[in-house]
Amino acid sequence: MKIKMLDLTREYKKYRKEYIAAVNSVFDDSAFILGHHVSDFEKDLSFFTGTKYALGVANGTDALLISLFANGIEKGDEVITTPFTFFATVETIFQAGAVPVFVDIDEETFNINPKKIEEKITKKTKCLLPVHLYGHPADMEDLTETANKHNLKIIEDCAQSLGARIEQKMTGSFGNCGTISFFPTKNLGCAGDGGAIITNDEEVYKRAKRLRIHGSEKKYIHEEIGFNSRLDGLQAAILRVKIKMLEEKNILRRKIAAHYSENLTNRIKKPAEKRGCFHIYHQYTILCDKRDNLMEYLKENGIDSTVYYPLAMHKQKALLKYGYSSQNYPIAEKCAKTALSLPIYPELSFEEVDYIVEKINEFYN
Ligand SMILES: *Cc1c(COP(=O)(O)O)cnc(C)c1O
Repeated sequence: MKIKMLDLTREYKKYRKEYIAAVNSVFDDSAFILGHHVSDFEKDLSFFTGTKYALGVANGTDALLISLFANGIEKGDEVITTPFTFFATVETIFQAGAVPVFVDIDEETFNINPKKIEEKITKKTKCLLPVHLYGHPADMEDLTETANKHNLKIIEDCAQSLGARIEQKMTGSFGNCGTISFFPTKNLGCAGDGGAIITNDEEVYKRAKRLRIHGSEKKYIHEEIGFNSRLDGLQAAILRVKIKMLEEKNILRRKIAAHYSENLTNRIKKPAEKRGCFHIYHQYTILCDKRDNLMEYLKENGIDSTVYYPLAMHKQKALLKYGYSSQNYPIAEKCAKTALSLPIYPELSFEEVDYIVEKINEFYN
């Protein structure tokens, strides 16, 4: 058996007709940039997430950058975030002129540890930027309490968590805004780059809306320096087809995750789901001994697996000059050495999952 980390063609083959029809409808009225496909999708997205506003942008990285600006984060401000994430989370904080301050993660959820935030807060702290990594919600109750106490903004990086929730409240709807990526491998992926910002705050929405189009509300009249960061009509039309299936697809991921967790050996640590949380398993990530050997063994047996992420942010070469490398984030570093993500996507069959389980259990026996 040969099992890829992700095979998007299975999904495409199933819904090919719907996608082609969506593409045709955009050509029919040539609404390529913004336009009604985008505004219709924005309505779908705000309905899905239970937020007042949704705003399509060019990608998930821009969604973060524009959110930082729209929330008034400025030069010299400190933004508290996790060292165990995709680089874009941290990169955009620098691009906004602010300074990332790292707080180690909780090994159970791979997310920022709210108990360790308080000690990192200074007069310059303006914002918390949690990431709902792998699709498991960060501890928003504790984070919100801390933010309220110290008058901080919260921007939620929901690139991996669209549809994940805590007691029915969607990730991205707790803080001042949430950022989403429609990169093709994400739970809701388009056919190229795409992203969005969701918010309940009218001011954030208005400012983000003008930032995405050169800081302009009225054509050729510019209120501030902005960006060119718009969602394409083509992507929006495809996303309108796919968002209808998202809940069902996330439930399929949960079923596959449950099947893994029931059958995998206890020699590895399985992903947890905290009480009240609805994990959407963007990744099914285990912690394991001899991780690199296991990966090699799976490869020999035709099974792909991936390390998200092999190097914590404070150790990245790009950040060397900022002096983070001497700081210690032991849990993030441990996870970088022992985390392994296994194939999980809605079209993966149970036979395939059984085969992966068999090979992993074999390796540890
Ligand atoms: C994918 C991802 C992003 C960036 O999204 P793009 O659409 O690729 O720009 C940001 N943060 C996290 C946690 C991600 O996984």
